Amino acid sequence: MHEPLPPGRPPLSTFEVVPYRPEGGFTAFGSLLLIVASLAAGLVLGTLGGIISRWFWLVLIFPAVIGAGVGGVGYWAIRIGHVRSTILGVASGLLGGLFAIISMYYMQYRDFESSNSIPPDVRQQLRELARLTPAEVEANPLIPPEVKQALRDPASRAGFAVHDLPSYMHFQAVLGVRISSSSDVGRKDGGMNLGYIGSWIYWALEVLIVAGIAVAMQYVAAKQPYCSECQRWKKARQLGTAPESQIEPLKQGDLPVFAEPLPLQVGEREVLVTANICPLGDDRCPVDVLIQRLVQTKEGFQQVEIAHVTYAGEALPELEEVFARRKLPPTKEPLAERAGSAIEQAIRNPSSGIKSQETGVGDWNRRADGTENG
Ligand SMILES: [Zn+2]
Repeated sequence: MHEPLPPGRPPLSTFEVVPYRPEGGFTAFGSLLLIVASLAAGLVLGTLGGIISRWFWLVLIFPAVIGAGVGGVGYWAIRIGHVRSTILGVASGLLGGLFAIISMYYMQYRDFESSNSIPPDVRQQLRELARLTPAEVEANPLIPPEVKQALRDPASRAGFAVHDLPSYMHFQAVLGVRISSSSDVGRKDGGMNLGYIGSWIYWALEVLIVAGIAVAMQYVAAKQPYCSECQRWKKARQLGTAPESQIEPLKQGDLPVFAEPLPLQVGEREVLVTANICPLGDDRCPVDVLIQRLVQTKEGFQQVEIAHVTYAGEALPELEEVFARRKLPPTKEPLAERAGSAIEQAIRNPSSGIKSQETGVGDWNRRADGTENG
């Protein structure tokens, strides 16, 4: 069925392959580190955000930066603390993101209290009056007319009633968040007022952005390949590229298909194949094979996962052989015309694995793998 092997090259075997699954484990130390680090990052970045918002605020952008900050710290903690549980990754990202937003608005609440010029005992009286129903206020002869007048205004009433963060947020919602342009919130003047409900929706959106980004980053960190045998994160090594038609045999462990490298069909794209290998590895450590499509974007290439499977460790030499074989015959048409120079570099780089990580293609991977022992 297959053409004869080139003389001197080892035969290729069929391997049992299972879908990749995150390892899922965690340690008490790692979990604690992750939660504490996420909360601390949320506290620091949220407080900073609260301070910066005294002067200006970039809608959607600042929440995204805070989310990325919390996610980045969580990513670091996950790598250091060996957290492979995606549930923990998601939970800590959520906690850190929520904490960041709470810290930010708590900072603004503190600013509100400290800038308030009403003497504390008067404020306390006004607070109590603001808790009365409008009818009770009107019926009370002891309340001076000007205070009654002020209490009829919903914003003043909500302002008098502020005594904690939720009541401060209620007051801010009564005033209404104002957005003067897509990149700026003018807090007191100008712009479109989002109204009471709109303000709460806006804050919910902020929470979604901050927590969403933090959760996504920490989830990705926790699902990275990990060797249970050696208690180490695996390292990515680019094996090379393969035509799209060969994704299936790679996913099935059907390596004899690759005895003779299939030529790339006209119009067919290539996929990038990366092996995640235990750094202490011997052949007992499973190898995770990640197949990605390179999608060209304005910024360069984006890697999109197509398949992720796990081979037994002993498959690694044969997998490497498959891709070494692909490089044997000189390519007839210039690869650059088919799939861009990044793939060409990946396939032509003589020391395919580690070194190709220095190219543009590898950079993404390295960042995703960032904290690996420096
Ligand atoms: Zn191992």
